[in-house]
Amino acid sequence: MDVDVLIVGAGPAGSTTARFCASEGIDVLMIDRRREIGYPVQCGELLPDTDEMYTIFPEGQDLKELFTLPSHLIQRTCDNIDLISPGGKTYRCEFKSHVLDRRFFDKHLVDLAINAGSRLSMDSSLLSLENGIARTTLGNIKAKVIVGADGPNSKTMRQTGMDDSRMNYPAVTCQAKGSFEPVVKMYFGSVAPGGYGWIIPKASGANIGIGFNPRIFKGRPRTVFDKFMATMDCEYGDLTMGLVPMSGPASSTVRENVLLVGDAAGQVMATNGGGIPTAMIAGRIAGKTIAEHLAGKCSLSVYEKRWREVMEKPLRTALSTRRLADIFFLNDRLLGMSMRILGRRGLDRAIRCKRILF
Ligand SMILES: Cc1cc2nc3c(=O)[nH]c(=O)nc-3n(C[C@H](O)[C@H](O)[C@H](O)COP(=O)(O)OP(=O)(O)OC[C@H]3O[C@@H](n4cnc5c(N)ncnc54)[C@H](O)[C@@H]3O)c2cc1C
Repeated sequence: MDVDVLIVGAGPAGSTTARFCASEGIDVLMIDRRREIGYPVQCGELLPDTDEMYTIFPEGQDLKELFTLPSHLIQRTCDNIDLISPGGKTYRCEFKSHVLDRRFFDKHLVDLAINAGSRLSMDSSLLSLENGIARTTLGNIKAKVIVGADGPNSKTMRQTGMDDSRMNYPAVTCQAKGSFEPVVKMYFGSVAPGGYGWIIPKASGANIGIGFNPRIFKGRPRTVFDKFMATMDCEYGDLTMGLVPMSGPASSTVRENVLLVGDAAGQVMATNGGGIPTAMIAGRIAGKTIAEHLAGKCSLSVYEKRWREVMEKPLRTALSTRRLADIFFLNDRLLGMSMRILGRRGLDRAIRCKRILF
């Protein structure tokens, strides 16, 4: 099979790339190994408000085009995030965010891509890349451009040798029943070693989970999760586990006719683990750049330059903060003390990917 653009993965990165590429009249095929888009949900489902996104990514352009959502996709809006130290001290930061239902959100993004003219094949996996040909469960696919939007464990990344010895944090989440304060809560310390535990209130119930640094805690994710849930008094349903790339953006995201977008490119904010906004911002840049490239107006490497102009500085700053925090994460007392020294203002800057030390 021949296509102009093959996109591996139909999460936020892949579907946004497909939307902006297909809308320029390019022949785009998305493949995804899942049977259903967006399911199972492996996410805290929190999306910063667009104004907050401008404070994180001041170079971002027309973010409203990407993040203006139909109201039915938003389960709840929260105005604050409580950051809770190991000793139980709460630092309340103003931070407006929307709580999504990822199952419907991801489907919405795919619908936008399909309406723009892109095709989708579910239950279809990339197996390998050989001499520019994608071997997939649909057969061999020859594409002018291949996009690796296949998440934190990206096969596209590994097959093209763009692997940077990435570090992924394990994360476990569940949907809990009950009534919860309309504030996002993040718990730090040995409750989620090197990461944090969260309660993200939904329209009814909450998304509760933990993510942790596997170098600080080498045991099973379930052990950390069970310990965290033991501190809550609520019923919850099935658990899902996922990975969050926390070692910063890949040093290279374009090689020959292949480019990486979203988690596959390590485009995640290392102080909060958020990767939906970055996947979509990079996806729009990728889609538009591919269309220009196929029209003979630029090389594919322009994608690398463009996304770094918008996101590299905040992503690198967040990574430096996370690396510094790793020293304090080793000990609850030290962590509590460092949170007290930083205070609400410093913590507020950390979650917004700003420098905490002047
Ligand atoms: C537990 C957890 C909680 C999180 N909470 C938040 C949050 O609250 N807010 C936030 O902004 N971010 C959060 N994140 C991060 C966020 O989910 C990701 O950054 C985001 O989904 C990245 O989008 P993506 O399209 O790059 O990757 P994904 O959403 O992972 O999509 C990749 C797609 O590729 C497909 N795929 C993989 N391999 C293949 C293959 N070989 N062939 C075909 N298809 C393939 C997968 O099926 C998947 O559909 C969380 C992550 C985890 C694990």
